[in-house]
Amino acid sequence: MKVFSLLGSRYFPEFSLIFILFEIMFYLLTGFNRDFIIVSGVTFMLLSILLSILTERRERAVKKIKAVIKGINRNEFSSPEEIVLEGSLHDLELEIRKMYNKMRSDIEYLKKLEKIRTEFLANVSHELRTPIFTIQGYLETLLNGAMDDPSVNTMFLKKAIRHTGNLSNLLNDLIDISMIESGQMKMTFVHFIVDEFMQNIIKEFTPLAASKGLELRDNTIREGLQLYADKPKLKQVLGNLIQNAIKYTERGKIELIVEEEEKSAKIIVRDSGIGISTEDTQRIFERFYRVDKTRSREIGGTGLGLAIVKHIVEAHGSKIEVNSEINKGTEFSFRLRK
Ligand code: ATP
Ligand code: MG
Repeated sequence: MKVFSLLGSRYFPEFSLIFILFEIMFYLLTGFNRDFIIVSGVTFMLLSILLSILTERRERAVKKIKAVIKGINRNEFSSPEEIVLEGSLHDLELEIRKMYNKMRSDIEYLKKLEKIRTEFLANVSHELRTPIFTIQGYLETLLNGAMDDPSVNTMFLKKAIRHTGNLSNLLNDLIDISMIESGQMKMTFVHFIVDEFMQNIIKEFTPLAASKGLELRDNTIREGLQLYADKPKLKQVLGNLIQNAIKYTERGKIELIVEEEEKSAKIIVRDSGIGISTEDTQRIFERFYRVDKTRSREIGGTGLGLAIVKHIVEAHGSKIEVNSEINKGTEFSFRLRK
């Protein structure tokens, strides 16, 4: 049955024609040798059938591969297991499944990026809108008469200026984030004397801590201890962590600690503040994430600070860690090389 169906193969006529031509040639060349003609005839016949079988199979395989590729392009498969080629093409089947998996994960990744981008834009617009509307509100109120009321005019202007401050902080953070994420953040690493550096930071933030009745202190650092870092970026990290510690602490103290280790030093910023739940500690490094949005906004936070801190610490080849207990306090730490 199979042979008959093969005789109907679309290539069979071509092979038969070649066969007849060869037979005529042999007939003329061998001077009518009957046995030779019969043997060669049968051989050619078998060869033709064999070639037909092979060509037919190849055709079928190519058709199946084409159908699979079309199916992938039209998203007809929901899992790689649905891609099946016949036995002899097992290796190709595996390769196509691998390609399918890669294509799917690339698409998923692009979709995720697109979602992050949209969320980021929505967050930025939202954060910009709040201070802009507030400033607009104060200015309009002033223009509508409050300007001549000495009991409120200065207060409204002060509030408006405070919101321009928030706006400018937000823009600076956004510029930082975009520089970091587009790989344009230039790092300049140097060895520096830690003691002197930390003293300056303590001096800079003591007034802010004192304004909330908090003590800001550091520990004794070995004289001459040097660490390797980008100094302005490290200052930005510590400034962010200390400002957070002050913002989220009502009583007690903030400590800036340097623990020397063999080849590095652990830098710790510890507070005795409101603390962060375990659930939230996993998210606070995300852009715009704030545990308590209302409270954070009141005290002027947009939730970009720790995202920037994380990037900078990682650019130092380190990792930022957080340990916290609700109502007890929070500790952020990372290591720097000597
Ligand atoms: P920004 O730093 O952009 O001005 P922010 O301080 O709100 O705003 P992050 O510094 O990124 O944002 O911090 C994210 C959130 O993590 C904060 O909103 C706050 O809820 C929580 N958080 C950060 N540091 C502390 C801390 N020391 N104690 C308690 N909660 C904290
Ligand atoms: Mg912050």
